[in-house]
Amino acid sequence: RATRGGEEVRGYVPSMGQIFLRRFQMVTQFRQALEEGQLSVHYQPKIALPNKHVLGVEALVRWQHPEFGKVDPDEFVPAVEAAGLVGVLTSFVLEESLRRARRWLDEGLRISVAVNLSVRNLADAEFPAKVVAALERFGVPAELLTFELTESGVMADPQRALPILRELHSLGIVLAVDDFGTGYSSLAYLRQLPVDQVKIDKSFVLGMGTDLGDLAVVRSIVELGHSLGLTVVAEGVEEDLARDQLEAMGCDVAQGYLISRPLSEERLEAWLQARTAR
Ligand code: C2E
Ligand code: CA
Ligand code: CA
Ligand code: CA
Repeated sequence: RATRGGEEVRGYVPSMGQIFLRRFQMVTQFRQALEEGQLSVHYQPKIALPNKHVLGVEALVRWQHPEFGKVDPDEFVPAVEAAGLVGVLTSFVLEESLRRARRWLDEGLRISVAVNLSVRNLADAEFPAKVVAALERFGVPAELLTFELTESGVMADPQRALPILRELHSLGIVLAVDDFGTGYSSLAYLRQLPVDQVKIDKSFVLGMGTDLGDLAVVRSIVELGHSLGLTVVAEGVEEDLARDQLEAMGCDVAQGYLISRPLSEERLEAWLQARTAR
């Protein structure tokens, strides 16, 4: 990205060649970075509306690169996908998340974990078997695992993706359509997918306080989702006003900076404890 904060301050804009080189380096270094522990998973809480119970967390990968510093998933995940390495990434995030869920179970807490999938995962016929093996290894019930997938991910190759999604769903894993409203979302299409949740894209949620168009989109997704029997999740909840509006519309779940930023495992534990102590 040409306008990353630090570089902008110094008036430094990388050339196309530099961006390409950086991407190339990230891809070639990815496996080693994983082994060396440069990648970690942060977790962002999701709460029920209106009672504010913590229902689950979304796992979001982080890369602390020795040379480039903090690299955004928006930058490296697409590169890792293009290089055919996303299976390794998903396995890492899945295992970290299930290990976390297992610890909560041991503490008597039922908190679900949501992992983002990429198109490539949905093209891997072996993927459901790998997931089953991981669930068994950690002793986590399938109902405590959610997969978030984008519509474009499913629509890239529906013939291949659909049987995999059906298999995951029949295991009891919760499936959520991410970034809903940004793609070619249609009611007909949503009905054909074996999904349980829609996540309203944060662009609409961020805009709904000031833009009547965004507010209308959010309201219609809540209605559409409910009419199809789905749980509706809003991401990008940054302000009290948005939370109140969502609550009034009957939106089921909220996630966003207002509730918490994505947190390291350690900070999440502290956050959870402070919350239950209240
Ligand atoms: P996403 O799945 O749509 O994740 C939500 C993004 O919104 C996260 O960015 C999160 O930090 C950010 N966010 C959460 N609350 C707020 C808020 O209130 N306001 C604003 N402005 N933003 C908020 P992040 O962590 O940078 O991740 C970006 C994207 O990278 C994710 O978008 C997802 O598509 C991808 N990604 C992250 N982790 C993984 C992973 O483990 N595997 C795969 N395949 N993709 C991942
Ligand atoms: Ca997501
Ligand atoms: Ca999203
Ligand atoms: Ca996104």
